[in-house]
Amino acid sequence: MRKMLAGIRCFVLDMDGTIYLGERLFPWTKPFLAASRRSGRAVRFFTNNSSKNTDAYVRKLAGMGIDIPRGHMLISNGVAAMYMKARHPGARVFVLGTPLLREELAEMGINIVEDAPDAVLVGFDTTLEYGRLAKTCDFIRAGLPAYGLNPDLNCPVESGFIPDCGSIAKLIEASCGRTLTFFGKPSPLTRAYIVRETGFAEEEIAVVGDRLYTDIALADGSGMTSVLVLSGESKEADIGTMPGTPDLVVRDLGALIPLL
Ligand SMILES: [Mg+2]
Repeated sequence: MRKMLAGIRCFVLDMDGTIYLGERLFPWTKPFLAASRRSGRAVRFFTNNSSKNTDAYVRKLAGMGIDIPRGHMLISNGVAAMYMKARHPGARVFVLGTPLLREELAEMGINIVEDAPDAVLVGFDTTLEYGRLAKTCDFIRAGLPAYGLNPDLNCPVESGFIPDCGSIAKLIEASCGRTLTFFGKPSPLTRAYIVRETGFAEEEIAVVGDRLYTDIALADGSGMTSVLVLSGESKEADIGTMPGTPDLVVRDLGALIPLL
């Protein structure tokens, strides 16, 4: 395991289930961050959760005593913006999403409109409203390019789960008879985004997460190393039953400390 991590220069950590659970920071997270720093490795954070923006996550981490520069916090929002600017430059984009998502995409240079769009983005809209949902379906049914911010079906919360972007997209797909293309983990677009934002090559990056079909599947068939932590959603018995083949499996982030 130590050999596998020897060439790793940067850890890209998932958040929920990996560094904390809801509002509760795992006791081994800060020791892991300190050990990574001591070993000369960089750490970045990546979440698929498109209901919030960069500042909200930087603030949440600061509230837990983890201070990071804005540029170290990566979200599927950034992947969407990178792709839209390259693939649909200057496009008028309708966004089904929270005010925080819409604000962040606008800051990232996306031209957000309410009417006559050229493309549609569906996010993890915790402010979902039926009229906007129906309007989204109208645009997608009319054949506009349509994308989902993150494919997660559920988001873990203190009380269990709440329906995430992937489930909202299922409803839209059923209504429109079309499938959405997703950003976020495990999209290869997210790999490209991580490489661009961190400046490290795939071979120098280890992605660490608690969910096989997003965090771990991100590294499948790529140069990235994947580390499954068993402190969140996926259990050891799930390996092989869904996409995502981890290179390493550990109890939690703390178990990596002696290997750094
Ligand atoms: Mg997670």
